Amino acid sequence: MERKEFRELTPVEEARQLINRIIARSDTEHLKIEDSAGRILAEDIFSPVDVPAFNRSVKDGYAIHAKDTYQASEPEPVKLKMTGSIPAGCSDTFFAGEGEAIEISTGAPIPDGADAVVMVEQTKGVDDNILVYQPVHINENIMKAGSDIMKGERVLRKNTRIGSREIGVLASVGMKEVPVRKLLVGIISTGNELIEPGNSLGKGLIFDANSYAIAASVEEAGAIPKMYGIIPDDGKMMEEGLDRAIRECHMVLTSGSTSAGVGDIMYKIIEDKGKTLTHGIAIKPGKPVVIGMIDGIPTIGLPGNPTSALSIFNEFVAPIIHNSLGTAPSFRTKVQAVMGTGIRSGGREELFPVGVIRGRAYPADKTSGAITTLSDADGIIEINAETEYIDAGSPVEVTMFGNVRIPDLMYVGGQCPGVDILEEETGMVFRMLNMGSSAGLTAIAGETTDIAGINMPGADGNYNLPVVRKMNLSDVVLAKGYKRELGLIFRKGERISGLEDLIGLKFKFINRNRGSGTRTVLETELDRLAKEKGISRNELTKSIKGYNSTSKTHRSVCDTIKDGRADVGFGLRNTAEESGLGFVPVTEDEFDFVIRKDLLDIREIQVFLNALRSEEFSRRLPAGIHTYEMTGSIISPF
Ligand code: AMP
Ligand code: MG
Repeated sequence: MERKEFRELTPVEEARQLINRIIARSDTEHLKIEDSAGRILAEDIFSPVDVPAFNRSVKDGYAIHAKDTYQASEPEPVKLKMTGSIPAGCSDTFFAGEGEAIEISTGAPIPDGADAVVMVEQTKGVDDNILVYQPVHINENIMKAGSDIMKGERVLRKNTRIGSREIGVLASVGMKEVPVRKLLVGIISTGNELIEPGNSLGKGLIFDANSYAIAASVEEAGAIPKMYGIIPDDGKMMEEGLDRAIRECHMVLTSGSTSAGVGDIMYKIIEDKGKTLTHGIAIKPGKPVVIGMIDGIPTIGLPGNPTSALSIFNEFVAPIIHNSLGTAPSFRTKVQAVMGTGIRSGGREELFPVGVIRGRAYPADKTSGAITTLSDADGIIEINAETEYIDAGSPVEVTMFGNVRIPDLMYVGGQCPGVDILEEETGMVFRMLNMGSSAGLTAIAGETTDIAGINMPGADGNYNLPVVRKMNLSDVVLAKGYKRELGLIFRKGERISGLEDLIGLKFKFINRNRGSGTRTVLETELDRLAKEKGISRNELTKSIKGYNSTSKTHRSVCDTIKDGRADVGFGLRNTAEESGLGFVPVTEDEFDFVIRKDLLDIREIQVFLNALRSEEFSRRLPAGIHTYEMTGSIISPF
């Protein structure tokens, strides 16, 4: 198959103009009011009734003639004869004559004759009479028929999105059925590597994230998603799937198979079946996008990478849906921030995902290809093609994704159940990137995190402080955390009693990733063992089967052992026990927090430190993790 190259990328502005000319046809359907939330009104709604339908009292009191009360005062109340009582919902006819009062409840219809209601608090009942202590004016405490909504009045405009307020209005004018727009959007994921969530993940497979994320986005935009599931990378099957979706829907979105890779054929199919309007837009992430028309149905091939797919959806597909429905785009909040670090941009317009913490924006663009890029991001900044570099401290405008809650504190470092408990205890939201101790240290050095969580043994056997000193991190402090029992993890029944059992080829080991503190702790222990045996660590690890295979978290080490892909690993007691695995202790580490010195006084860090020092935190720690006399103390490395 011929390889397509992106020589001619459509500039963003041109793509936007092109998008604005695309309209998807839609139908109208009638839904029960209770099923209409989130949908778009297809017609103007005029009220068939007055609301309220009759003059009604807004207070508990007495319906009277206002002029009877004009002389009333505290020392000289006016006396009126009470002639009846009207509860709410009463349909009897009443008449209040001059000099008379009729008891009335809030919401009840005003009797003929009466032109005001005096509140019960301003009266006193005496036998069959009431005394009124204050004058009331005509219409006081009366809500006139139609004063809320008048019969024939337009209460809702067409193309309005139906939310709780609109549903309240529709119900209060007595509507039971609502005309709404029906814009069906077919959603197809492509790729041999995809499998539906809920299945077990075989080798080389990934879960289909796009179908679900795109369906949710379609719904957010006011249209109706129709999922067609996963189609393998097979031209014929893709064609059939696309045909069906085009017959059944008003618009079709595919994802995957749009780049220039061999076998990426979606663009070819769209080209064959209809008209390609553009293939490739000059933005990052996500330039491989095909926009076409097949039989009058807008058909858009989104990139496979979930981050790119959603970015392109937000920028180019949501506007088509809004134009087609006549709705205003949902309000996207913009916040002003300053760049927390400098970022480099690559000579074309970019929509750059960022996370925002306390007014500072950080790149959330780890690598493309991970949904985490997007879930770590709060919004995007637009960088124009001429900008090559944005310095730290430059002001930027962040367009937020939906209703994201901006986290209070940023944490990068080792993954640890203690940190999860700390987050809960603070009542705050952490942006938590569990990427290992080394990544935490790199981030704190680059000022891209507030806190780094580390468990790094130094050469002298002390934890963490030697590493911070070695890295020459002078603008930080070390907040001492807690101790954690680390040891060997294995299926119950295996005969493993210590590190020596790893040597030889009996058991297959699963190691932690490089950069993980826990791996460094193990290396330190192995150094000790090697010394005892008079060999080098290298020689020792060569005799450990599987030493180079790695897993990224405590939990995944346990999973690997549980399902038999390895026999033994090294990690936390607590995780082993939770996984129902055996554990023998090898050593205790110290898990500490590196905190930027300039942040020590801010509220969020204070709350964090208070939580760390609290008895409640200490009490909640699981087996194998405990606080000690140093917990919460602050050490300056220099
Ligand atoms: P493609 O455009 O088909 O080459 O896909 C680009 C990348 O996105 C590949 O790594 C795919 O595995 C991934 N990808 C494609 N479709 C999906 C999907 N529906 N969910 C998650 N990842 C996907
Ligand atoms: Mg693919």
